[in-house]
Amino acid sequence: MPITPADDEKFMRRAYLQAHKGYSEGGCPIGAVLVDGQTGAVLGEGHNMLVQEGNPILHGEMSALRAAGRMKSRHATVLYTTLQPCFMCAGTIAQFGIPRVVIGDCANAGSDETVQFLRARGVDVVMLAPAQSPAAADCIKLATRFRNEKPDLWQEDWGGGKAAAAEQDASKSPALPIC
Ligand SMILES: [Zn+2]
Repeated sequence: MPITPADDEKFMRRAYLQAHKGYSEGGCPIGAVLVDGQTGAVLGEGHNMLVQEGNPILHGEMSALRAAGRMKSRHATVLYTTLQPCFMCAGTIAQFGIPRVVIGDCANAGSDETVQFLRARGVDVVMLAPAQSPAAADCIKLATRFRNEKPDLWQEDWGGGKAAAAEQDASKSPALPIC
């Protein structure tokens, strides 16, 4: 049967376990799971692979999509991600027409720009509240811990955000979200 919001906690916990696996490997602790929205079957899951593969574009979401592999359509899927998508991943979500995205941690994102970007394209973006979701609270805790432990790696994964010219007027170009 179709997955419901009640399933969100279960799948966010699974995404968190991916993030934690990445952390235990010395990498960036961001995980994601792609689920079939009709059956609840896990289609693919993964975590950020910047350190493990030396690949800067394998964010958690991209790893989950890579694991899921070829699909004729992703229009009936749900993507769970421990951290708010960056513009690369939000662009991929929009490109593939993924209709629903559930986020564990928005507290460690620089802004809500990508949430606005996705919602403007009709994507149902669910931001789990840590007060109600223990999995979301754990996502926030782990990313916060990692940022404090390895700020340089966090910055590298983020890509530094704004171009140098935009730095001159931060008010016109708020910090990019990270994932
Ligand atoms: Zn990303």
